[in-house]
Amino acid sequence: MKQSFLLIGISLFTLSLSGQEHKPAGNDRTIEFPDIPGYRSLVCDFHMHTVFSDGNVWPSIRVEEALRDGLDAISITDHIEYQPHREDIPHPDRNRTYELARKAAGESDLLIIPGAEITRSMPPGHFNALFVEDVNQLMDRDPLLVFREAKRQGAYVFWNHPHWTAQQPDGVAAFQDLHRQLLAEGLFQGIEVYNELTFSEEAVELAREHHLTMMGNSDMHGLIDWMYDVANGGHRPVTLVFATEKTPEALKEALFDGRTAVWFDNTLVGKASVLTPLVEASLKVEKIRGGLVPALEITNHSDADYILENASDFGLHNHAGILVLKAHQTTLVEVKTREEMESFTLRFRVLNAFDSPHTHPEIELRVD
Ligand code: ZN
Repeated sequence: MKQSFLLIGISLFTLSLSGQEHKPAGNDRTIEFPDIPGYRSLVCDFHMHTVFSDGNVWPSIRVEEALRDGLDAISITDHIEYQPHREDIPHPDRNRTYELARKAAGESDLLIIPGAEITRSMPPGHFNALFVEDVNQLMDRDPLLVFREAKRQGAYVFWNHPHWTAQQPDGVAAFQDLHRQLLAEGLFQGIEVYNELTFSEEAVELAREHHLTMMGNSDMHGLIDWMYDVANGGHRPVTLVFATEKTPEALKEALFDGRTAVWFDNTLVGKASVLTPLVEASLKVEKIRGGLVPALEITNHSDADYILENASDFGLHNHAGILVLKAHQTTLVEVKTREEMESFTLRFRVLNAFDSPHTHPEIELRVD
């Protein structure tokens, strides 16, 4: 009996794997957003730990979690200066985490980006360096020399959890002199706005003021499934990177250029220049009836439940001023155009997307 159950289990698993490319979207844990004009939308998590610093898992588990979540790229960013398992797991070569993850990723198309976490008390706090060539060279006592070496290696560097209450007791992200000096020397380019389960609107403001790339990452130490209750539809925070292609080089170019959006808790944060095309690309409009009150079917091909505020010239017939377009569902929208129109444009503010702490991007939907 046991054996036949096992066989059924295996064949179901195989079925679901082979169907992955064309599955009805939104019915599993894969994080899904459409590409935008000119760019691929790569789903990434650039902050996580293993037993090679203070995490509780081997690098291969981070790879497996990422594959299950359908991620395009991850970076394992073990702490350089904090090695609580060193007695049990001596760790003389700091590039091993990356090498083991690369090996675990095997022939899959998951990109593994070499990374490490520069772990200092405030200031400057914790920073992740991605695309590093040799982590062993980032171990100087003087943090400034470490940042300069990261730059010499061509790294992309971002400030982790600038609102972390262990280092910023009031939870308000703010620069100190050393941060301004690092910025003036071009030693970091990004900042986390979402970290694990927390959000910082002050970090969004700092990103806007100082042209920093917005990042959102899991900072996972235990298991993604437990922290984010994946079994009940939860997911980790991710950085969506809008890259010309799915390669480490294109990813790096996009990060330096600030083309990201952060996705967590049914909220998107980023510049309007990427959020507007992302939401517009998520929505397909089909006119199913004309007349004075035309009817539309709007299908949402993304994981976000978009909360839209009507900013059109027209009122809606079957919704009040705010409507919700559920993830991977089709919503009927009736519009009072007051005269028969061949084509018209609807405008909405996307209330669960932020391009600053208090402003929302706007989208246009053309109806033909
Ligand atoms: Zn960390």
